[in-house]
Amino acid sequence: MKRKDESETMKEDESIASICPKTRNNHSANESEISKKIEENMEFGGILGTAFNIVALPALVLFLNLMCNGQSCKFGQFPIFYNGWSYFFDWDAVFIFFSWVSFQAFLALLPVGKIRYGLPLKDGTRLKYRCNGFISLCLSLAAFMCAIHNDLPIDIVYNKLFQIMVTALVFSYLMSLFLYIKALSMPSSKLAPGGNTGYAIYDFFMGHELNPKMGNLDLKFFCEMRPGLIGWVMINLCMVVKSFKDNVGPSPAHLLVTIFQGLYVFDALWFEDAILTTMDITHDGFGFMLCFGDLVWVPFLYTLQGKYLMNYIHDTPLLILIGISIVNCIGYLIFRLSNSQKNQFRQDPKHPSVAHLESIPTAGKKRLLVSGWWGMCRKPNYLGDIIMSICWSLTCGFGSIIPYFYPIYFIILLVHREKRDSMQCQKKYGLSWQKYCEKVKYRIFPYIY
Ligand code: NDP
Repeated sequence: MKRKDESETMKEDESIASICPKTRNNHSANESEISKKIEENMEFGGILGTAFNIVALPALVLFLNLMCNGQSCKFGQFPIFYNGWSYFFDWDAVFIFFSWVSFQAFLALLPVGKIRYGLPLKDGTRLKYRCNGFISLCLSLAAFMCAIHNDLPIDIVYNKLFQIMVTALVFSYLMSLFLYIKALSMPSSKLAPGGNTGYAIYDFFMGHELNPKMGNLDLKFFCEMRPGLIGWVMINLCMVVKSFKDNVGPSPAHLLVTIFQGLYVFDALWFEDAILTTMDITHDGFGFMLCFGDLVWVPFLYTLQGKYLMNYIHDTPLLILIGISIVNCIGYLIFRLSNSQKNQFRQDPKHPSVAHLESIPTAGKKRLLVSGWWGMCRKPNYLGDIIMSICWSLTCGFGSIIPYFYPIYFIILLVHREKRDSMQCQKKYGLSWQKYCEKVKYRIFPYIY
């Protein structure tokens, strides 16, 4: 029964794939009409937009990290490069980055943790995923504690953070190029529906192959959940350790952000298998967008708040921190409860916790929730996520715009993502989706948007 539902998703993917280059010969329509259709279906501003993103997004990460350092954290204020290239490149940084990724790959391959299956692929098969992310996080934390216990120089991670980031950036370019070239020899059944246009730059950005593997390691699943996400927690912790080593100690606001963000990553890895049904895994290929996003964007932008707090904020009033904590918990509850409600409903709509909820039928077997969290707005989970992101920035006060980059970008990302998902749901569910949208009017922010 479930397989039939999922095949509907595949049909939609196939309809996009049917206009893609590897299947062009089967169509009588002329070349320019096909190219026009492909271009109409392109996302992120098409070829020009993705070309721009390939250069602009890494530049943004570099600039924000250059502007926010131990000397100052003001928009437009850059450090003086007194030591030339070594400011960007360092062998220790290369060693730290590759050791970290190798360690995470080793943990990911350990034969522990539950096995889950992805949605059916075009050829009807389902990929097997070992979901041991939470165990990997715990083992990484245990390794971190051992390093502290043995007095290893953990603060080197903070001291060389910029060079580690440059290494990760160069690596993500090279890896995406390697993946694109590797995908050129793959049959069309293995390619991502959205990254198979025949336009090299666009496919390089979107990801040409859907599920590239290296031995037993599923590269997309691995990069989505491990080195960057766990790396985010580790960088935050290294900054806390650095504060102690500098004999200042972390401020309550710094500790709070470290805990909030740690909780967020704990949650993501505890519910790791939930990612198997997201568009990142089922629809998007593994190209520059995800590779750079996972390995550079997440660990080196999401840690800006910790970096700012560590260097500049030491005296946030306790009452303000309590207020922020309460709002953060509300955001987390909205995020977690809405995600769990939908997951439970998808797994077993007759389960007592969701059986009472109102839902509308679709042409297939799936139904759409129109009450509970999913009756409040179409993306209550995004709402909770956005509330948390704002709370993390509020701990930084209002001395600089840089710690606010995360919620600003995140709102843009989720508004855009909601539109992408809505378009896909429209294709999947047609009239039922329209009915759902009429019933649940607001997209993310009730009574606002
Ligand atoms: P969702 O979890 O919202 O999943 C979207 C899918 O849910 C739809 O395609 C549809 O799939 C199903 N759905 C939508 N509406 C309904 C409904 N009313 N009833 C039942 N099913 C419905 O989206 P994401 O995968 O984008 O996000 C997952 C989580 O990850 C979110 O909490 C988000 O905030 C977070 N996130 C975090 C990011 C970060 O960088 N920190 C980045 C992106 C996301 P179907 O019908 O096929 O089941």
